[in-house]
Amino acid sequence: MSKEGKAPATARVVFLGGLGEIGRNCAAIEVDDQILIIDCGLMFPNHDTPGVDLILPDFTYLVENKEKVVGVVVTHGHEDHIGALPYLLREMKLDIYGSAIALGLASNRIDEAQLRPKANLRTVADLEKVKIGNFEVEFVPITHSVPDSFALVIRSAAGVIVHSGDFKIDLTPVDGRISDLARLGEISRSEGIDLLLADSTNAEEEGHSTSESAIGPVLAQLLAVNSDKRIIVTCFASHIHRIQQIANAAIDSKRIIFPLGRSMGKNIALARSLGNLHLPDQYLDEIENVNRYEPEQVLVLSTGSQGEPLSALSLMAANENRFLKVDDGDVVIISADVIPGNESAVGKVIDGLHRRGAGVIHAGIAQVHTSGHAKRDELRLFHSILRPKNFVPVHGEYRHMTSHMRLAIDMGQDKSHTLVASDGDVVELANGNIAIVDKVPADMLYVDGVVDGLPKATLRDRKTLSTEGFVVVVAAVDVRNRTMVGEVEIATRGWVHLADDAPDHIEALLADIKNAVRATIETSIGEIGDDVDSLARHVRTTAAKMIEKRSKMRPMVIPVITAL
Ligand SMILES: [Zn+2]
Ligand SMILES: [Zn+2]
Repeated sequence: MSKEGKAPATARVVFLGGLGEIGRNCAAIEVDDQILIIDCGLMFPNHDTPGVDLILPDFTYLVENKEKVVGVVVTHGHEDHIGALPYLLREMKLDIYGSAIALGLASNRIDEAQLRPKANLRTVADLEKVKIGNFEVEFVPITHSVPDSFALVIRSAAGVIVHSGDFKIDLTPVDGRISDLARLGEISRSEGIDLLLADSTNAEEEGHSTSESAIGPVLAQLLAVNSDKRIIVTCFASHIHRIQQIANAAIDSKRIIFPLGRSMGKNIALARSLGNLHLPDQYLDEIENVNRYEPEQVLVLSTGSQGEPLSALSLMAANENRFLKVDDGDVVIISADVIPGNESAVGKVIDGLHRRGAGVIHAGIAQVHTSGHAKRDELRLFHSILRPKNFVPVHGEYRHMTSHMRLAIDMGQDKSHTLVASDGDVVELANGNIAIVDKVPADMLYVDGVVDGLPKATLRDRKTLSTEGFVVVVAAVDVRNRTMVGEVEIATRGWVHLADDAPDHIEALLADIKNAVRATIETSIGEIGDDVDSLARHVRTTAAKMIEKRSKMRPMVIPVITAL
């Protein structure tokens, strides 16, 4: 799109999240001092991040370049693409573009955070072209596990950049809205695609993902086989097409649908109001009324497919759900995949449900789930249609992105026109080539209760505490006379059990630590004097070294030195 005689502009693609992890997707495309943000998602914590509620992209770069931001485009309504919007809205007002359902899902959280006045939500339609600053963005329909997902065609003075969004190539989607591969092919042929960014989640999986519409008959069959049972189905609350198929199966078997869990109720209402979900009133009732019906009339649609501790399903498994008690008259269908990291939580829930006597059907037993992400044959098809000049895989762990890049090379992508980038990398598109030219801050930003930006050190401490425990070493010093006063005291939790009946070798270890600490204080206090902080550091080092050597453990050592 360069003007006659003028060198084409360069584009900088700044990756703020989603490269090297599944979650917190966020990228900024910068051309001629204008920034267009693509997605703004969060990541859910796992066992590596104890006590953390959410993980966000690092917004430093966006905040520092706030005045350049012309808008945010969301590819679809999943939390890993929209969930961090409220946090970015705290920093700046934003024009946010997306499908009605994506913006509806996003506004749930934005409204909760009372940030609606800072968000200008702009609904876009399939194939609509929108001017955002100097960018033109075309929203191309693509299939995924939430309705009305988009691939983005981003035109600017730097050429044409295509972002696939999250996608699969579902040839028989539940709502009939197929991926507009013809349009993408037309753009490739007529304009050329200078840079493609594409979803890598399933780049290690051979074959073609099963169509979403194949799940409906399986669900219907399960309901038929269990016609005398109460049915409880759990799936992602944003998976409206799955919910549609569950609802269809329920209606066909004359069951009433009872949404359970806050997001399930909210999303069903949203999707019905937007026409994304067809569910007549007479087949829907409140969970409070569930016990007024016979088991064979009931289908409960619940949240909690990932074993989230306080979700409706986890509470059922623990027999603590206030609306229903699960027993041998129930069949629970887990219509979702387990996201890596959640295996043990989901395993516990399944176990708990079995303990209650319920039958449990999950994706390992029957085809009650299919992925929303393209497998290798779909990726091959996508690359063969788009034929980009340059390609950067996105949305995946490093292995997924590497596999995706190799697949593209096998498809004929020039090796020198593809690369695997990481969070924080700035990829420049200039003169038809790409290269990593810069690095911006892209730390994990941990949100914990009311604190955002929990320091890494705190997280490290939590891990230490959870695996090694802590030891408190207490001593008092007389600063003026430079002597120690009284005894060294030691207290601990989670390290070794200290009690009157502690074994001899523990007693001996404690005595040795106390002696070593006393010796350290007595030698250091002469030089250090009244610098109690330094004294405490010496005490910690001495105690920690001895504890590690003797117990082979590294508990957190907390020195408490009182100056008298
Ligand atoms: Zn995603
Ligand atoms: Zn998604």
